[in-house]
Amino acid sequence: MPADSDPRQPALRRPRPARPWLLYLLFALGAALLLGRPASNGARIPYSDLKAKIAAGQVASVQIARDKIVATPKAGAAKERWIANRVDDPELVPLLDRQHVTYSELPESDWLSGLVVAWLIPLALLSLVYFFFMRRFSPGAGVMSIGRSRARLVAEEGTGVTFSDVAGVDEAVDELREIVDFLKSPERFRRIGGRIPKGVLLLGPPGTGKTLLARAVAGEAKVPFFSLTGSDFVEMFVGVGAARVRDLFAQAQAKAPCIIFIDELDAIGKARGASTFAGHDEREQTLNQLLSEMDGFDARKGLIIMAATNRPEILDSALLRPGRFDRQVLVDRPDVRGREEILRLHARGVKFAEDIDLRRVAALTPGFAGAELANVINEAALLAARRRKDLVEMADLNEAVERVVAGLEKKNRRMNEREKEIVAHHEAGHALLAEVLPTTDRVHKVSMIPRGLGALGFTMQVPLEDRYLMSRTELIDKITVLMGGRAAELLVFGDFSTGARDDLERATDLARRMVTEFGMSEALGARSLSSEGARTGALLPGFPLPTERPWSERTQQTVDSEISSLLARCFDRARAALEENRDHLVALAARLREKEVLEGPELREVLQGAHAPGEEAPRAEPQVRH
Ligand code: ADP
Ligand code: MG
Ligand code: ZN
Repeated sequence: MPADSDPRQPALRRPRPARPWLLYLLFALGAALLLGRPASNGARIPYSDLKAKIAAGQVASVQIARDKIVATPKAGAAKERWIANRVDDPELVPLLDRQHVTYSELPESDWLSGLVVAWLIPLALLSLVYFFFMRRFSPGAGVMSIGRSRARLVAEEGTGVTFSDVAGVDEAVDELREIVDFLKSPERFRRIGGRIPKGVLLLGPPGTGKTLLARAVAGEAKVPFFSLTGSDFVEMFVGVGAARVRDLFAQAQAKAPCIIFIDELDAIGKARGASTFAGHDEREQTLNQLLSEMDGFDARKGLIIMAATNRPEILDSALLRPGRFDRQVLVDRPDVRGREEILRLHARGVKFAEDIDLRRVAALTPGFAGAELANVINEAALLAARRRKDLVEMADLNEAVERVVAGLEKKNRRMNEREKEIVAHHEAGHALLAEVLPTTDRVHKVSMIPRGLGALGFTMQVPLEDRYLMSRTELIDKITVLMGGRAAELLVFGDFSTGARDDLERATDLARRMVTEFGMSEALGARSLSSEGARTGALLPGFPLPTERPWSERTQQTVDSEISSLLARCFDRARAALEENRDHLVALAARLREKEVLEGPELREVLQGAHAPGEEAPRAEPQVRH
């Protein structure tokens, strides 16, 4: 029996995931068999030569494969076997019979390489992919390590940071002390039956110490600290973010009292439904999971959810409802005194010359957040070291301030005088309208300190109550407030800036929904033309085919013109109202320019005597009853 007709069949079992070496073994075996097959060894000769050798009686036996013939020479005829390509030759078998050559079929000569190509390689590739994912998803490594392993699900046992590491944000610290008390002895709170905090949202510009404060709360209370960043939840795999949230809460509940801290909450907490692209489903799922976990857990055990954001205005309002992040702590940029304290704090451990005056540095750095102040001290120490000095001198500090300022200017965080003037009037426009229009929320705070990317300043309104229904008048007032910034710019400067981009986006969205979803346009009446309806016929969710709109082109044109005219009327209304209160607008802008931030009461003091626009809301006739 020829050697190669008895191949040791490699077991074609599915390799077990736990044993990748099995796979490599299979590979090696296959390769060895393939390369070392004796049948392949021999002298390649033309078929005609082979035939001649058979006819000459030099051949003892022949194996015929599909594509080749392997001939074993008679003893003494040759040392090597002969291999020829097979030719479809009806004379071959009679010839072999005549010469009494034994012939047999060579078992599929390439069955092994066929096996390797058709089975083992794809199998190996699949297994590799499988291993890759198993490794990432395996419970040992934790679901949290998918993607980059940024998420630390392991709780820090006490962060070691305390309130003494934080300065210049005394109000925020005072508010957080209560949380520390609660975490220290949840039973006491439970006994008294006081309102137990559940979610605390830290809001404020970047670098003001929000992350630091959250860690300090955990450090003060000496409880475990689970910290994650919003973007850790947003993965390309649908469902992973939601699974992480579930996992996080399960682990944290087992460790209570403890803190879950979600940094940069806006990454998951962006308002839902703003975009219909399928890619946002993942974020929505994650957000929904977070909301339901927050509703579900028992706060009395002493689990506190803290979160931080510098863009509260884009958060989904569901996050701010009672029982969720209903406690909001403002972490603002520090004032002069606060800046001095922060400088002192970071100056600990740095050797300074006698002449150092941190108060002066504080006076030089209005608008700096804690992180920037820490940076100033650090830069000064570096500069002194570079100059081979033993002590940091005032000159180093001054230069460090300049460097940090230059860095900030490069980052476009500081405005020139004219820009400041425009922003002050823009924000004053929003704030004034929000105050004088009858149905709008009161202004909590207005600021012209830049934050976020799109907005130059911000006006923060607090809803008077949780709203489920809004009337047409209220919606129109809302759009009018959004238009207030742009209208004020036009009124005062006769020109527009790009600062109203975000406002326009939100106003347009509201107007579109009024026309297409709420049936609040006269021309179209009580009819729903929402894109939701149009989407039902689409192939992919989120990609409606234009032809699938169940309404006519003319209706579409009406929709467009209704949206435009609604926006135009709201803009005119905003401008008229501001014009009527022009003195108040200018006074408010001036005060804002001077103080940069105005709280509600102070703002209302400046606006005393400002009045609602004399005109009626455009088309006051409501189309729907509610
Ligand atoms: P945020 O989370 O608000 O963006 P961080 O907490 O990350 O800011 O602050 C970054 C760093 O800046 C901190 O680690 C700390 O060194 C410094 N810092 C910021 N704010 C303060 C503050 N109020 N007091 C002391 N240091 C601060
Ligand atoms: Mg932070
Ligand atoms: Zn605006």
